[in-house]
Amino acid sequence: MSEAKKMSLTVKVLLGMALGIIVGLVINLTGMNAPGTFINEYIVNGLFHVVGKMFVNALKMLVVPLVFFSLICGVTGIGDIRMLGRVGGKSFALYMMTTAIAIATAILIAVSFGIGEGMDIATNAAFTGKESPPLSQVLIDIIPKNPINSMANGDMLPIIFFSILLGISMLMVGKKAKSFVEGAEIANEIMMKMVNIIMSVAPYAVFALIAKAISILGIDLLQSLAGYVGVLVGALMFHLFITLMIVLKVFSGLSPAMFLKKIRNVQVFAFSTASSNATIPVTMRTVTERFGVNNSVASFTVPFGATINMDGTAIMQGVATVFIANAYGVELGVSGYLTVILMSVLASIGTAGVPGVGLIMLSMVFTQVGLPVEGIGLILGVDRLMDMIRTAVNVSGDATVSSIVAKSEGKMDISVYNDPDAGILDTDEALDIDEAVEAEMKAAVEGTHNK
Ligand code: ASP
Repeated sequence: MSEAKKMSLTVKVLLGMALGIIVGLVINLTGMNAPGTFINEYIVNGLFHVVGKMFVNALKMLVVPLVFFSLICGVTGIGDIRMLGRVGGKSFALYMMTTAIAIATAILIAVSFGIGEGMDIATNAAFTGKESPPLSQVLIDIIPKNPINSMANGDMLPIIFFSILLGISMLMVGKKAKSFVEGAEIANEIMMKMVNIIMSVAPYAVFALIAKAISILGIDLLQSLAGYVGVLVGALMFHLFITLMIVLKVFSGLSPAMFLKKIRNVQVFAFSTASSNATIPVTMRTVTERFGVNNSVASFTVPFGATINMDGTAIMQGVATVFIANAYGVELGVSGYLTVILMSVLASIGTAGVPGVGLIMLSMVFTQVGLPVEGIGLILGVDRLMDMIRTAVNVSGDATVSSIVAKSEGKMDISVYNDPDAGILDTDEALDIDEAVEAEMKAAVEGTHNK
């Protein structure tokens, strides 16, 4: 095999991302993105848009069956059912803790930089908030009225609830349910293969998604909001490289350097899709096959984290609150900021990890502390890019907590974690079908037909 062919998928995906940024910038800076031009009509909003959307759809297509089957396997293969409660409790506590630290540091950083002070408020700022569900409704909605409906809508918490309950019931039925359990295991393995297939086209899709996002980005807007963008990105990087890595080291003793090396792929997927939910298949694959986290932990912590854990989003809310409070000359005071922290943490529980949801949460926080919701209009223009970056931080948090919980439960294969090459996906391998297996399957199918 030639060297070029052996290039790992991660490297190809990173290349796709770099090329996407370059092409996007060229299109943006040369004005080729003007409405009505060929590039704008057929490339940016044509080719890039279609390829990108098809890929995001493909990822979303995997999420529900993957979570469903892997959770059944996770529960039935757990060995000790009490572990479920511990995994749930620990991951919930860690997710909430990291989110609270994230927003508290973000507020501290933003306040110390005094961002937004003395700003001329744009008169055309406009944003009308949407409602984020109240906590009572979030709790009620954990129990699905109709699991098929929840699956059709991709509502993660009720799907998690139903799958766990199903797994527990299978264990209770015991021997008679064995073939059902085995079926779920096979289905899980099949879904994981499907993840590989979809991931093998990722380099092109990531290129298309990023080139499109960057080409329509307002570069001048970035400049006028440089203070907000700079502080926000700084706070996000601080959380990713310092806070989360300290939490990882302190709670699990695992190597942060190895973590950061292996998580890159997941971050690029999150960055290009701006959706923790759509990234679930990649997070799940990376955490289990590259980090060595046992499926019994990952099948729960990953989809749970994608839904309730949003460190990056919380950081955006902290920075945006300070920015807009200063811009409007509103004094929030310590109690105001404490309310912001509490509201953001609570809001993260009830809102799914999908693009742009952070802004909805922000409007809820603003209403609560009496900041003008239309102020969000000020930051709207740069929010897509900020969403991409904060989603990468969100999924890194999910993987951090999954690793800590797995390690503490003795459900992590440390030799896999420490092996830099473990679970690396090669594009050719991803699509490999063993000829002998193919022939065997054909014979088996023919055998059934001839009966
Ligand atoms: N896009 C983010 C996520 O999926 C949520 C947000 O900040 O809007 O995690």
